[in-house]
Amino acid sequence: MQASTPVYFHVDLDAFYASVEQLDHPEYRGRPVIVGALPGSRGVVSACSYEARRYGVHSAMPISEAYRRCRHGVFVPVRMQRYRDVSRQVMELLARFTPELQQISVDEAFLDLSGTERLFGEPRSVAQQLRRQLRQETGLAATIGVAASRYIAKLASTFAKPDGLHVVAPGAAADFVLQLQLRDLWGVGRKTLSRLEALGIDTVAALRAAEPPFLRGHFGESTGQYLYQVSRGIDPGIYAAEAQSRSVSSETTFGTDVSDREVIERTLLELAELVMFRLREEHCGGVTVTVEVRDDDFTTRSAQRTLQRPVASVDELYREARALLAKRWDGVTPLRLIGLGVAGVRSDSEELQPDLFTDQHEDKRRKVEEALLDLRRKRPDSAPVTRARLLRPGDTSPPELPR
Ligand SMILES: [Mg+2]
Repeated sequence: MQASTPVYFHVDLDAFYASVEQLDHPEYRGRPVIVGALPGSRGVVSACSYEARRYGVHSAMPISEAYRRCRHGVFVPVRMQRYRDVSRQVMELLARFTPELQQISVDEAFLDLSGTERLFGEPRSVAQQLRRQLRQETGLAATIGVAASRYIAKLASTFAKPDGLHVVAPGAAADFVLQLQLRDLWGVGRKTLSRLEALGIDTVAALRAAEPPFLRGHFGESTGQYLYQVSRGIDPGIYAAEAQSRSVSSETTFGTDVSDREVIERTLLELAELVMFRLREEHCGGVTVTVEVRDDDFTTRSAQRTLQRPVASVDELYREARALLAKRWDGVTPLRLIGLGVAGVRSDSEELQPDLFTDQHEDKRRKVEEALLDLRRKRPDSAPVTRARLLRPGDTSPPELPR
């Protein structure tokens, strides 16, 4: 690749939650591991190993269905704090390759390696080295997609999964997408797929052949434009904005569209923990909280609120986020993505002086959480206290402080 060509890696850990369980429990290796609710309950699969996927088990599937398909599977509960700790270790490793790191979920990140070839070498060998190092230092497998844009890098990693590497050379993106199915084009939802099919469009090539006015007429301006771009291997720019802004945000894309309130709220809490954790690690605070949801047809809605002082705790962020979610989600529509961000970030020293915490209760809560985060750093196996006390079913009142 030429020095002037942008180089993006999309690094995606394979079956992350299940892989961490197999890492921590060698007896699970090679077996179908299903992380999520336990059989007999009403919950769903959060994640599963590739061995379990062979039985047709996938994330967001009701656990009873997963059990029916794979009775001999290893069913284990979600240990979010452990996954967060491993995730942090992974992200630290990735950051050694470039400071231009954009973490987009607990197990996924974009690395901008543009212009680093002289330093590190050719992108393919850098990606191989990264995968090797990750396996040596963490015991985990990651798949990497390499391309001249973030969108194509993401498609390339999906294409190469699991435990793979795929490099799309500059100028080859348009050809690369032709080998994919329409449903592999990230952001093309189920509704759009079935409408395309009804119009006789069932391949990427057929989509590319469609005239722009035809696409706009059937799908509207923004989806029409999106389809036009992605069928040609052009990055529609969905990840570009976040990289520039002074904010900390994170999002989760569900493997299958989700309408289960419990799953949505737990995901929102996980995001609140991650965002708050990153704000603290970077000694930042922020005042504007944004929640974004995207339905299965790529319609995106967001709501935001600006607080009078920086958000102080996971509890507070989660409560704000849940109130914002209620404004943009009817509790029924299946979601494919949920995101949470905090903007207006300034350094701790300017904005987060203790005396700014006029609310004594919040200040105390913040101190307790910081102590818990410290404890978790030192003892990764300690119980995930925050999550347990926040997620009491049906409880809408602010949670109590732990003793
Ligand atoms: Mg993954």
